[in-house]
Amino acid sequence: MNADDLRSLQAPLKPETLAAHALGRIDAASGAIIPPIHPSTTYERDADLGYSKGRCYSRTDNPTYDVAADTLTALEGGAKTLLFASGMAAATAVFQALEPGDHVVAPKVMYWALRSWLLNFASRWGLHIELVDTSDLAAVAASLKPGKTKLVWLESPANPLWSISDIAAIAELAHKAGARLAVDSTVATPVLTRPLSLGADIVMHSATKYLNGHSDVVAGTLTAAVEDDFWARIKSVLSLNGGVIGPFEAWLLQRGLRTLFARVRWQSDSALALAQRLSEHVGVAEVLYPGLPGFSGHELAKRQMQGGFGGMLSIRVKGGRDTAIAVAAKLSLWKRATSLGGVESLVEHRASIEGPTSPIPDDLLRLSVGIEAADDLFMDLDQALSAID
Ligand code: PLP
Repeated sequence: MNADDLRSLQAPLKPETLAAHALGRIDAASGAIIPPIHPSTTYERDADLGYSKGRCYSRTDNPTYDVAADTLTALEGGAKTLLFASGMAAATAVFQALEPGDHVVAPKVMYWALRSWLLNFASRWGLHIELVDTSDLAAVAASLKPGKTKLVWLESPANPLWSISDIAAIAELAHKAGARLAVDSTVATPVLTRPLSLGADIVMHSATKYLNGHSDVVAGTLTAAVEDDFWARIKSVLSLNGGVIGPFEAWLLQRGLRTLFARVRWQSDSALALAQRLSEHVGVAEVLYPGLPGFSGHELAKRQMQGGFGGMLSIRVKGGRDTAIAVAAKLSLWKRATSLGGVESLVEHRASIEGPTSPIPDDLLRLSVGIEAADDLFMDLDQALSAID
């Protein structure tokens, strides 16, 4: 920790304040309140071949990383954060730190590219991957093999059905079986859920989404509750595989983090308003959103998520696949694009991007709510849904 951090003030500051100032460090060389970008790939060695300034080469470490990484560590309440070139690089580093033969429990409903990597790649490298419905505690308990299960992976809310898994209860089950718990908290963000405080060992983000928030950086993060041997293995996966973030991207990420709370709270409020209005729309068969009382994980989401239910929802369009695609085609404010968590609203027909093995219903449109006026977003959806017979 840097002695200049806002965290060194006596009164504990609220996370909103820490984020807005990105910990408030002042650049020692210039007095700048915004940190500089360090493009250097390498660092001067001492005459006796040591590295007294603590840095050697940017595949391991770069001073530009520190502000974003330390801010996120503070927001997640962790011990240390590593930045990666993408969310996938971050997530796969956790699995690559396991040993061949280890048993892993992961959700049936999760970000599709990671599920595909687990089934098609991690399995070939000797991990035993078991996909279970992690919103069902009994199913998780039944899947754990004490001594053999080394990792439980959760995503909550889980893309794109937004099912909620009980992080605290699963942390207890996993630990009893001798396994670690890692949580992809991309959709919840530290604004709404802090998995480490619920007992998770590692929290992962696709920082491409809400943490950066402007659809202009691909990045990933891992934050550890403690710096143990497993964390040391993850660190060496990062520096030896080389999936490092660029300094400019790390700098943009610290800038995005400053507005995280304002964005996520606005997006959550708009998503709830849209979910309520869309539930009553004649063109919509079902709205999937953890903030709706009729949603199966609603009571758990109320306990586990603080201050909102997130900016992601999905609708199932009456009329099936072709109607859903036709509705997306008629939208103009909502942009047809993959990804989520940016300030502009995006819509996506998930089943077609996930391909024939996707478990996602083909009448489903995923909505990533931006920071536009919720009334404008509803008006655009209403005209598109109403234009279809
Ligand atoms: N996890 C979730 C929930 C995601 O939505 C994504 C990307 O869409 C990822 C992980 C992968 O992140 P990235 O695209 O930054 O590699």
